Amino acid sequence: MTFEELKALDDAYIMHTYGRFPVDIDHGEGATLYSLSGRKYIDFTSGIGVNSLGYGNEKWMAAITAQIGKLGHISNLFYTQPGPLLARELCTRSGLSKVFFGNSGAEANEAMIKVARKYSFDKYGKGRSTVITLNHSFHGRTITTLTATGQDSYHNYFFPFNEAFRYADPTLESVQAQGGEDVCGVMLELIQGEGGVRPLDPKEVQAIADLCREKDWLLLVDEVQTGIGRTGTLFAFQQFGIQPDVVSFAKGIAGGLPLGGILTNEKCSTVLTPGTHGSTFGANPVSTAAGMAVLETLDQTFLDGVKEKGAYLRAGIEAIGSPYLGQVVGMGLMLGIDITGGRTNKEVASLLMDHGLLCLTAGDRLRLLPPLVITKDEMDQGLAILKQTLMD
Ligand SMILES: *Cc1c(COP(=O)(O)O)cnc(C)c1O
Repeated sequence: MTFEELKALDDAYIMHTYGRFPVDIDHGEGATLYSLSGRKYIDFTSGIGVNSLGYGNEKWMAAITAQIGKLGHISNLFYTQPGPLLARELCTRSGLSKVFFGNSGAEANEAMIKVARKYSFDKYGKGRSTVITLNHSFHGRTITTLTATGQDSYHNYFFPFNEAFRYADPTLESVQAQGGEDVCGVMLELIQGEGGVRPLDPKEVQAIADLCREKDWLLLVDEVQTGIGRTGTLFAFQQFGIQPDVVSFAKGIAGGLPLGGILTNEKCSTVLTPGTHGSTFGANPVSTAAGMAVLETLDQTFLDGVKEKGAYLRAGIEAIGSPYLGQVVGMGLMLGIDITGGRTNKEVASLLMDHGLLCLTAGDRLRLLPPLVITKDEMDQGLAILKQTLMD
């Protein structure tokens, strides 16, 4: 099939919900991708923070193949090994107590909101159901997580939205101002991903965490994008000096298979009881086996390497001295670049693609989320494309 044939097929049968780039991807190896016609791309996107082990990873493929040969799916009515093995690993390494597995980020955040509301209901009765979220946040595409998303552009068409969300800036003062008797939790991303790679100030986050403890509001941390090694620790909260009540994860956990979920601390570990929550595909054995291959790969040495690679990439970008590349922000391999010189981030991403480098945009920034396994050589190739494209 040619690119033109593929595009015609897609246009005919797939709903047009994505603004796609005129690029097709057929296969890959490491952090390098190839189109149907054999065109090579360096990948700074990892399927939006999903393909943490890149493409064609041997350990990941072996884990999936072994599991799919035994059991591809059963149901949560029966016990099966991969789920609890992965849950134990996540709990041990996060210091949290229990896991609920679903399939996506939005579904994980739905579970997180349900925990906050039921925790409050069980303890205080009706009336505490509001969750404070932050301006510029992104929490998903379901009606509830769209409402939780603190960006007006998402609050359209699909009325009525759930009323029990209020939006604050990422400061103690602003969160306090949105407080009240009706609040059960505060939900935040530590680096706002879709909102434009906006890292929060750790001091403000710690102060918000203290406020939550004082008011018995649950601290809900959405680590769908920042989690699973992306920032150089298993979870970003481990670098912010806070103890969340609930953490959601998805994107990178299974290295490319659909898997998401939440971790709760001891206090919240019995809030969801039989019949109050579930998911048909949740804890799917193949996805959770893939998740185990990811976590086994992400040992301390590997995570330290993510920090080093992030620092290398950042320094490399700063050294280019392009008139179009401004300040670089972010942590580990989650980087945002200010675009200057009269070009937009989308124009720059599109130019880079023409030259063989895949990048993302978020807010006004260029966003880089390379596979965590990216090599120095692949980073150098990407940096060379940045330089060649953006010094003209
Ligand atoms: C991507 C993302 C989501 C939504 O995840 P889906 O798997 O697309 O439902 C939620 N929160 C954050 C922070 C994300 O980056």
